[in-house]
Amino acid sequence: MLGNIQAIARSAEPSYRLPMSRIVIVGASIAGLSTGLLLARAGHEVVVLDGDDVSPGGPDEVIARAFRPGAPHAVHAHAFLARGRAVLRDRLPDVLDKLRGEGATDLPLPPPPSIASQVVDRDPDLVFLMVRRPLAEWALREVAVSQLGLEVRTGERVTGLSLDESGAVPRVTGVTLRSGGVQTADLIIDASGRRSSIVRELSQTFGLASLVQSEDCGMVYFSRAYRVRSGISTLPPLNRGFAAGALLPRFGTLLAPCENGHVIAAITPLAADVAMKNVRTPAVFDTVLRKVGPVSPWLDVLEPTSDVYSMGGLQSTLIRLVRDGRAIIHGLHVVGDACSTTNPTYGRGLSWALAHAGVITDVIAQYPDDLDRQAKALDAWIAAEIEPFYQDAIAGDRVRVAMMNRALLGQELAPAMSPPQSKLSGDPGRPTFMQLVAASLTDTYVWHRLARYQSLLATPSDVYDDPIVRQRISQLDSAEIPFPAPTGPTNEELAKILN
Ligand SMILES: Cc1cc2nc3c(=O)[nH]c(=O)nc-3n(C[C@H](O)[C@H](O)[C@H](O)COP(=O)(O)OP(=O)(O)OC[C@H]3O[C@@H](n4cnc5c(N)ncnc54)[C@H](O)[C@@H]3O)c2cc1C
Repeated sequence: MLGNIQAIARSAEPSYRLPMSRIVIVGASIAGLSTGLLLARAGHEVVVLDGDDVSPGGPDEVIARAFRPGAPHAVHAHAFLARGRAVLRDRLPDVLDKLRGEGATDLPLPPPPSIASQVVDRDPDLVFLMVRRPLAEWALREVAVSQLGLEVRTGERVTGLSLDESGAVPRVTGVTLRSGGVQTADLIIDASGRRSSIVRELSQTFGLASLVQSEDCGMVYFSRAYRVRSGISTLPPLNRGFAAGALLPRFGTLLAPCENGHVIAAITPLAADVAMKNVRTPAVFDTVLRKVGPVSPWLDVLEPTSDVYSMGGLQSTLIRLVRDGRAIIHGLHVVGDACSTTNPTYGRGLSWALAHAGVITDVIAQYPDDLDRQAKALDAWIAAEIEPFYQDAIAGDRVRVAMMNRALLGQELAPAMSPPQSKLSGDPGRPTFMQLVAASLTDTYVWHRLARYQSLLATPSDVYDDPIVRQRISQLDSAEIPFPAPTGPTNEELAKILN
C-alpha cells in the first residue's frame, strides 16, 4: 500500500512542489522560452519578459508575421541541427510532438553516396529536424503559455538591472522595466539575444572592458522562402545531407526543405563584396541560385513565398561571467545568443540555446541556494562546450574570409586540400576542415566523427585531435578522393547577373 502511495507521489511530483525561486527571464524567444519551460517544470516560479508585442495565433498566422524588431533573424534560413533536436526529444518532447503535428519531420543525416553502402549502423542521435525557425518558436510559445508556474509577458521591455552592491560580489536583484518600476527576482536570466544590452551594461558599470570577446564574421546573409509547387511529387536530391548547397569562391549557398513543402534558401557572400548586395533583388537572388549546380534543379519545382531578407553586422561573440576563478556577478546567468554567437552559416545557435537551457536548469537544481556555485558551474560548461566552438568558428571564418577575399580580387585560390588552417591553430599536425571533408567521402569513421562534430554532438577536438582520424587523413591519396568541384557562376557570369 505504502509503495503505491510513493509511486503516485513520485509521478505527480512536479505539480506538488513549492516554488523554489522566483526567476525572471529577459527574452521570450528560443532560449528564453525553453529555459522558462524547463525551470517552471522544475518547480520554479518563472516570468519571461519580451520587448516585442507577440500576439497569439495559429502557426500560419504567426509565421506570416514572423519578422519582428527583437528577432529580425527569425525569417532567415535556419538549419535545426541534431543536437537541438536531441534536446527537444529528451527534455521537451511535447514541443517536439507539437512541431511534428504541424508537419516538422526528422531527417537521419545520410552519409555521402560514395560510402552509403558501408554505413550499416545508423547513429540514432544524428537526426536533423526539418522545420522553419518561426514554427519552432511558435511551438515553444504555445506550450509555454499553458505551463503552470510560467508567465510569458510580451510588450514588456527591460531597460536595465537592479543591483545590490553591498557585498563582495554585486548581486542582481531584479530588472527595470520601460513600462516603469522594477521586477524583482531571486535570479535573472538574460536570454535577450545577440544584441543583449544587459552584459554590455555590466561591462560599463564595473569597468570590465573585455567581458565580451567578439570578432566580425565578415559575411552577410540573404534568405528567401519558397514552397514546392502543387503537383510536384519528386524533389531534386540534397547533396549536403539535410540541404542542397555549395561553398563557392565568392559565396556560400544553402537550400533546405522544411515542413509541409516549405523550403528556405540562403546566399552568404562577404560583407565587403559590394556587387553581391544586388542579390537583395528577388530575380537576381533566383538567377544566382540557378547557376549553382546542386541548387539549380530545385528552382524548377519551387515558387517563392517571400521577398529576399538581408542581415549584416554578424559577429561571433562569447561572454564569460567568471574571471580568474571569481564570479563577477551573482544572480545573473546568460543563455543562447546573449551568451555566444557564431557565424550563422554553421547553424549552431538554436541547438546551443536549447542545450544551454537544459544545463542552466540542471545547475540550478544542483545548487539551488548557492549563486556562486551556479555561476562557476555554468561557466565551466561554457568553457568546455561553447568556447571550443567559438574558437573553431573564428579560425574557420578567418580561412574562409581570406579565401573569399582572394576570389573577390580574382586571385588564384589555393587548392581545396590545403587552406592555411593548421597555421592558425598552432598545431602543424591538425588536419584542415577540407581534409576532413575529403576523407569523409571515402572513410566511414571520419564521416561519422565529422558529422557528429558538425551537428554539435561532439567537440571540435573529438574530430581534429582523434588519432584515428589523423592517421586516416595522412594515408589519404588525394587522387582517389571523389571530391566533386561545386559548380557555380564564374566572376564574369556573376558580374553580368549582378549588374
Ligand atoms: C541570419 C541568421 C541565420 C541563422 N541561422 C541559423 C541556423 O541555420 N541554425 C541555427 O541553429 N541557428 C541559426 N541562427 C542563430 C539563431 O537564430 C539564434 O541562435 C537563436 O535565434 C537564438 O535565440 P535566442 O533566444 O538566444 O535569441 P533571439 O532569438 O535573438 O531572441 C531574443 C529575444 O529577446 C527579446 N529582447 C531583446 N532585448 C530585450 C529587452 N531589453 N527586454 C525584453 N526583451 C528583449 C527579443 O525581442 C527577442 O524575442 C541564425 C542567426 C542569424 C542571424
